[in-house]
Amino acid sequence: MSHCSRSVGLVAEIYLDYNASAPLDRRVAEAMLPVLTAGVGNASSAHRFGRRQAGAVEAAREQVAALVGGARSGVVFCAGATEANNLALRGAVEAAAPERKRLLISATEHASVRRTARRLAEAGLAKVDMIAVTPGGFVDLDALDGLLGPDVLMVSVMAANSETGVLNPTAEAADRAGAAGALFHCDATQQVGRLPFDMAAVGADLVSLSGHKICGPGGVGALVGTPAALRRLTPVIEGGGHERGLRSGSLNVAGIVGLGAAAGIAAAERITESARVGALRDRLVRGIEGKLAGVSQNGDPARRLPNTANLRFDGADAEAVIANMDPVAVSAGSACSTGAIEPSEVLVAMGLSRQAAFESVRFSLGRYTTEADIAEATSRAVTSVHYVRGVIQGGAACA
Ligand code: PMP
Repeated sequence: MSHCSRSVGLVAEIYLDYNASAPLDRRVAEAMLPVLTAGVGNASSAHRFGRRQAGAVEAAREQVAALVGGARSGVVFCAGATEANNLALRGAVEAAAPERKRLLISATEHASVRRTARRLAEAGLAKVDMIAVTPGGFVDLDALDGLLGPDVLMVSVMAANSETGVLNPTAEAADRAGAAGALFHCDATQQVGRLPFDMAAVGADLVSLSGHKICGPGGVGALVGTPAALRRLTPVIEGGGHERGLRSGSLNVAGIVGLGAAAGIAAAERITESARVGALRDRLVRGIEGKLAGVSQNGDPARRLPNTANLRFDGADAEAVIANMDPVAVSAGSACSTGAIEPSEVLVAMGLSRQAAFESVRFSLGRYTTEADIAEATSRAVTSVHYVRGVIQGGAACA
């Protein structure tokens, strides 16, 4: 039985929500264990205990840098990709000259980029423009060209979208940003564990990533920057001056060691793993499409992560479909906030109607997904959609 297909009583749980959070790899846990149990001291302390902790952090720094083709000295450890994105945007805006305070962000960025940019605009600290995406879900480079100018401080375009898995033309976007004298920030959180990502080849100045998306621990991540880009940032969190002064706070040594171990495993295994997982994802989609009418895929299937499928089921409310798929865990592109359910901003930005967005379900697979999981998930999805469509046609309440 796989790591993530557990039996609870007689019910087998199946986890297909890796883009939300991937399970911790046991090898990562083993790397963390000695630090958790025997690691003593603050990594900033000069004594032997501190130096030992600092040595473990530096080894992890090397592993994280290697995962994204960056320099060891460019890795700023922090509490996850949300914080890394905040540091990139807020840090750059605060340090920027008044004549260069405009941010261009793609319309499908993660909330930690979108809302941070919105907040900076509301506070009058920056101007923000959204770069439109194509119906396939990737950034429209002509739209980017139309927005660029000498006042643009930063262009922020994610590598792979968490809801659709769609891959952006990051190298092309970075090229254009660089030509306009703007920084290029890339939230690569969803890509780095699944497909190669080389920040030098892309031309990215700043890259965000997170432990729990790559089978590492949660609550730890990094912003990786070029020396020139890091010099253009002001810290968001002030204190003792850790992490080149960009992120103060005693280091989370066990978490950082776990992030490093997860990065090392991802770098070594992501290509073979993605070939296996991609075949399973395709089997899942074919299986569902073969048994159900009215199914369409959101996001260009020719350019997306191998582990992700975002499917629209015509006439079936996604929340009801998901509830009826239990114990198979998948998720909706929509989020509940303060009691009001809004459709996925990502899907709406791609041109889907609110209705279509409300009928869309994300399946995201990963390291421990098995063929048996996919057979069961296919059958549960088909049964659930049949049921929900029947319920809705019958006018009864959703289960
Ligand atoms: N960016 C992307 C693309 C993500 O998918 C996520 C996690 N949903 C984040 C940022 C935030 O990551 P974290 O949970 O580490 O704050």
